[in-house]
Formats: sequence, structure tokens, C-alpha cells
Amino acid sequence: MILHRSTVPQSSAKRRPRWAAALGACLVAAACSGPVSIEPPEVDVPTPLPEGIDFDPEIETGTADDSCEPVASYSPGSVTAEQARATLGDQDLVVIGISQSTNLMGYRDPVTGDLAGFDIDIAKAIVSHLMGDETKVKWVPMTSGDREEAVNSGTVDMVVRTMTMTCKRWNSVEFSSEYYHGGQRLLVPTGSGIGGLGDLTADHQVCTGKGSTSPRNIAEQSEAQPVTVPDFNDCLVLLQQGTVDAITTDDCILAGMAIQDPTLEVVGEAFSQEPYGIAFAKGNTDLARYVNGVLETMREDGTWQDIYDKWLAEHLGAATAPDPVYQD
Ligand code: GLU
Repeated sequence: MILHRSTVPQSSAKRRPRWAAALGACLVAAACSGPVSIEPPEVDVPTPLPEGIDFDPEIETGTADDSCEPVASYSPGSVTAEQARATLGDQDLVVIGISQSTNLMGYRDPVTGDLAGFDIDIAKAIVSHLMGDETKVKWVPMTSGDREEAVNSGTVDMVVRTMTMTCKRWNSVEFSSEYYHGGQRLLVPTGSGIGGLGDLTADHQVCTGKGSTSPRNIAEQSEAQPVTVPDFNDCLVLLQQGTVDAITTDDCILAGMAIQDPTLEVVGEAFSQEPYGIAFAKGNTDLARYVNGVLETMREDGTWQDIYDKWLAEHLGAATAPDPVYQD
């Protein structure tokens, strides 16, 4: 079933952004101690919108594909680093799809310009085992909607980018074992009156990433109007300028946005299961098995724990690595 909620009012450039409300309050307060009261004029400045924004996206709803066990990958077996390297496009360099704009997970450190984050450190540990040298990697930034095509076209050898393992995606890619267990939540301005999914009405517009699992989850579980953008990071500006009422995506991504803007808060319980896997081209089970062996080592020698504790524990609480599940 394809869902449209076109009856919901679309975003308006005439909405007053939050800074305007704050400015109004300041000026009124200042007026108490002086003779002149100045109300800022209602200006009708066009709100800049990100390319590809869709205020009424088509969203597939209905019975989810549950024909598989999404977290079941391939047992490590005895695939060597050399055999795994033989599957790469260029055997001297592993090409990895990542995000470079998702705080905490995969982003450019503004001081060093280097990539940093939970996904980046997981990927670096894999590169180190696979190539014998952490620097033998080419990073390819991409959006959520680019991921499946990127691995299957050979543009990248793998994707380490907040990617949920689903049966639908298993039809087009191979996944590693689960390396993070997330859940979808809501990010709203503090004091918005939205405390969770139950507070959303058909009048609320909720921004999320196109090509991700998030639009379907929110459409199935609330009355709110999903608004999609190709890069979910653009949702942050849309929330700040008052174009949307909330952002919804995975807990770890929202935690990163809440750090970027302390006037926002993550609310409500998680309302989905988002097990993250590393994606490989369909058929490249050798690379999947090899990486699963590396993930086993990382769980056992404390590398996974160190990476989690460095990036996420403070924001999401203590956690241990998800146990691997294998289909063969
Ligand atoms: N984990 C979800 C997904 O893979 C949402 C986050 C994202 O788009 O990366 O679709």
C-alpha cells in the first residue's frame, strides 16, 4: 500500500522561526525598562529548503517483509584476509561508503578535517585487519538512499553507515553480523509538548531521511505527516527554522543532533528495532565472512567496547556488543 497524507497542511515559509519568537520576547522584555515597545515585523522571507525535500512522500506501508531473520549473517569460517582482499575492486585499497555529516557516527572533525565517529572507528578496525594498514582506505560519503546501489555497482566495497538489516535489503545486499542495535525515536524542541509518539497528530510534520527505514516506521505508527530529505542531517535546519515539528530517525543519530543543538531533546521510547550491519555486494559472501571474523575478534578483545564507550555510552547508556547470529 502506498500512503499519501496530502490533506495535511504543507510547510509554510510564513511560519515564525524559533529565533524570531525569542527576539520578540527579548524586545518586549527590554520594553519594560524603557519607553518604547518594538514588535518585530512579520516578515515573509522565503525559507531556504534543502534540495529533494518532499512534503508528501509516497511511503510503502502494509505487511512488512518478514521472510527472513534480518540479523542472521554468514559464519566466519576460514576465509583469509588474502581471500577477502581478492574480492576488492582494487586490492591495495578498500573503498568504504560512510556518512561525513552524522555527528557521533560518521562526520568530519571541524578542527582536524578528519573523519570521526562510531561507524568510522568500526570501519578503521576492519581496514586494519583486512589490509594490514589502517590508512589503505578510500572513504566515499553517501546518503541513506545511495547505499544499496553503491555496493552493488562496485562503487564501494562495503558500506558502514547506520544501515539497518532488513529482509527487503537482504534481497539486494549481503550483511555482516549485527554491530549496533538501535531504535527509532523523536527529536523535538525542548518544551514543545511532544513527549513521544502518542502526542503526534495529523497536524505535525516530522522530518526524516529518504531511502531509510524511518519514513515507514513513523507513517505506520503515528498520524503525523512525514517529510523526507535525501540527507537526514538537513532535518536539523528544518526543525530549527520551524518548518517541521520534529525529526525522527535512529537513537544514535538523534543523540548527535541533540549535542549540536542543546535546545532540542530526544523524547519517547524507541518504536522500532534497527540492527546495524555492514553491507557488501550481493554474492560477496567471502568478504562478509571475513568481516564477521573481524567483528568476532573486536567483540572478544574489547575493541568494540572501546569504540562504543568512546562515542555512544555517555549519550545512550552502557551497552555491550550484540551477539552474532549466523544462518550457516
Ligand atoms: N538505520 C536506518 C536505515 O538504515 C535509518 C538511518 C539511516 O538512514 O541511515 O534506514
